[in-house]
Formats: sequence, structure tokens, C-alpha cells
Amino acid sequence: MSVRAWTLSIEDRERLIQGAFEAKKGAYSPYSKFPVGAALLSPDGKIIKGANIENASYGGTICAERTAIVKAASEGIRSFIGLAVVTNVDAAISPCGICRQVIREFCGLDMPVLLVPGNYPQVLAPGEEAKPGYGEGGVRETTLGELLPDSFGPEHLELPRRS
Ligand SMILES: [Zn+2]
Repeated sequence: MSVRAWTLSIEDRERLIQGAFEAKKGAYSPYSKFPVGAALLSPDGKIIKGANIENASYGGTICAERTAIVKAASEGIRSFIGLAVVTNVDAAISPCGICRQVIREFCGLDMPVLLVPGNYPQVLAPGEEAKPGYGEGGVRETTLGELLPDSFGPEHLELPRRS
């Protein structure tokens, strides 16, 4: 397992998780019936929430993570120090590929990403150990860099190019 710079306090971790649950209430998912909530934490402590918003023309659907990023970015908040995502599934569900790339635009590769089970907090049975990569309450604790290795980002457009 890779080394992580966990910068989240216990309080911020819980604020992010609860923010994702609150965000999920705003989901509009009549087609997939798969509501998702996402919460971002800004460096100055703001929680920005997003939910998935579907469309009868399915391609117009936007995921919870991108809703949160776009809401924040359009309000001038363009850096983040944590992300939590939750669904109604009793397991950690990861952001889709498109969202990973959009998150990459505004977040460091070492940013903590919390993938929260819908039945959070899960309780371990007596003697049971958490699976590798999982933390308190059954939360999968990862980073953007782990979710999107060898990624392309804004800095690559700054590289010198052949004409
Ligand atoms: Zn997505």
C-alpha cells in the first residue's frame, strides 16, 4: 500500500462524510435509481455538496462529484483538500472515469478521497479486522492519485512542445 499524506482531522473527516449523506438527498436519479452524494472540503473549511442530476436524454446526466466541483469552481472555489462520496449501496463505490479526470483538474494527487458505504458506520464483528485500505466505519480511504494513476493534468499543457 502506498504512503498517504492524511491531512484530514477526525472532525473534517466526519463533516465530509455527513456532507455527502446530506448531498445525496438532492439527487435526481429517476432513471438509474442510484442516488449519489459528494462533498468537497475547501482549504478554508467550507463543505461544498453535489448530487447526481439525471436527464431523460441520458447523456445529459451529471454525476454528484462533477456537480460539486462545478458548483464550487463557478463560485470561485478551485482547490480542495478532501472528497467524500456515498451511494445507497452498502459498499464503497468509486467515482467514474470522467469524474476522476474532472477532479484531477482542481485537486492534488495526494488529496484524500473517502468512499463511504451507504450503511455507514459499518461495525466490525468481534475479532474482525478492517480490510486493507479501509478505515473507521467501513470507509474506503484512498487518494485521487490512486484512483487515477499516470494521469494527464493542467501542468502537462505547460510543457515545451515541438512546433
Ligand atoms: Zn462520475
